Amino acid sequence: IVPIIAIDGPSGVGKGTACGHLSTRLGFRLLDSGSLYRLVGLACEWDGVSLDDEVGCTAVAAALDASFEHAQGRLRVWMNAREVSAAIRTEKAGQDASKVAVIPGVRDALLDWQRHAAKWPGLVADGRDMGTVVFPDAGLKIFLDASTEERARRRHQQLLDGGQSVTLSAVLDEMRERDVRDRTREAAPLEAAQDAKVLDTSGLTLDAMLAKVDDWADQ
Ligand code: C5P
Repeated sequence: IVPIIAIDGPSGVGKGTACGHLSTRLGFRLLDSGSLYRLVGLACEWDGVSLDDEVGCTAVAAALDASFEHAQGRLRVWMNAREVSAAIRTEKAGQDASKVAVIPGVRDALLDWQRHAAKWPGLVADGRDMGTVVFPDAGLKIFLDASTEERARRRHQQLLDGGQSVTLSAVLDEMRERDVRDRTREAAPLEAAQDAKVLDTSGLTLDAMLAKVDDWADQ
């Protein structure tokens, strides 16, 4: 069986950084499952499908035509042969992703996509339900958490660094809204798997967080 490391947690907690770090260090493949939900949101917009139309969104998810490329630590994404790497990274794309993510049919349609990513020599999977639903047999499950304020501060800095101009309070509001939706939905709500190692990164530096994750991966 292919070795799998599942890393789950709320947005802005540092999962992407931890997963990128591990996949580079171990030479494992990387699954950014959030990008799939972001793609479904964008595809619905392109097709004029309303995000609360469960049947419509499920059909869009089932017909998703996307391809991914990891180069120099960066994920590039195409949909219907158009590059959408930047388009799926906006705050709106994150909100739209969390709206389609409440639909059970959408989640089911994306299961195969995600499971097919598990190939040799191994996979680091980044998401909300990697350890609970998609890869329940993963050899290592990590759940990263941090206070909403801390995560909003980090995300805000990331957005500023990326040249987007937003206020901290707008980021905090959006994060609260997305958190509530992710934690309270019926289908695969955001929660730690019972056998996950849980790490609160609130007071930790990035290096300290990565050191802990490395520790677990090497056990
Ligand atoms: O991780 P990212 O911010 O890209 O995820 C966008 C949204 O997609 C999340 O807020 C969540 O609602 C949804 N998602 C999910 N399950 C995953 C990954 C992402 O429901 N495994």
